Amino acid sequence: MGKGSIFIVSGPSGVGKGTVVKKAIERCDNVFLSVSCTTRAPREGEIDGVQYYFISKEEFEGRIKNNYFIEYERYVDNYYGTPALPVLKAIEEGKNVILEIEVGGARQAKKRYEDAVLVFVAPPSNEELKRRLLKRDEGNEVALAAVDKRIERAKEEYNFIEGYDYIIINDDVDLCTDRLLSIIKAENLRVRSNKKLIEKLHEL
Ligand code: 5GP
Repeated sequence: MGKGSIFIVSGPSGVGKGTVVKKAIERCDNVFLSVSCTTRAPREGEIDGVQYYFISKEEFEGRIKNNYFIEYERYVDNYYGTPALPVLKAIEEGKNVILEIEVGGARQAKKRYEDAVLVFVAPPSNEELKRRLLKRDEGNEVALAAVDKRIERAKEEYNFIEGYDYIIINDDVDLCTDRLLSIIKAENLRVRSNKKLIEKLHEL
C-alpha cells in the first residue's frame, strides 16, 4: 500500500464544494475528511466532533502555541484550524485526507507540506454563483444582504487560484465528484506515493 496524500479543497461560498467532498468520500473508501477546530458557535444541527470541534478562543490560542495545527486562519472574526496529528497519522496509514479550507489556510499548508495537492472548485460562471447564493437565501433578508459580501470574498479568493494545482468546475455535482476522484487516483499513482512498492522492486 502506498502513502496517502493531503488534498486541499477550496472554492467560493455557494459553489457546492461541501457536497462534492461528501460525495467523493461516500464513493471512495480510502478518502477521509479532516475535522477542523473553530471558535465560531455551532449552527443548528451541527454536532461537536462531526462538522467541527467547537472550542473557545483561549483554547484555540493555547493550541496555536503548542503547534497543534497544520494551518489556521482568522475568518470573519473566528479562528479555524486543521489539527495536525490525525492528518499525518492517516496519510502514514495510506489514507487520503481532504481538508476543506479557505485559500489562506491552503497556502500555509502547501508551504509546510509541499506534496499537498490543492484543488480549487470553481462555478461554471460568476452569474451562476450569484444565482446559487441568492437561491440558498431566498426570502431571508438578512442573509440576502450577506450575498454581496460573499461575492466580494469570491473575488478575493480568485486571486489565489494560480497557486492551486487543479481547478474543477462544479457544473454538475456528479461530474465534479468524478473530477475530484480522478485527481485523487492519479496522485496515488505518483512514484513518490509508492516508495514501498519501489523498494520491493529493487530487491531483485
Ligand atoms: P463555515 O463557518 O461556513 O463553516 O466556514 C467558513 C470558511 O472556513 C469556509 O471557507 C471553510 O472552508 C473554512 N474552513 C473550515 N475549516 C477550516 C480550517 O481548518 N482552516 C481554514 N483555514 N479554513 C477553514
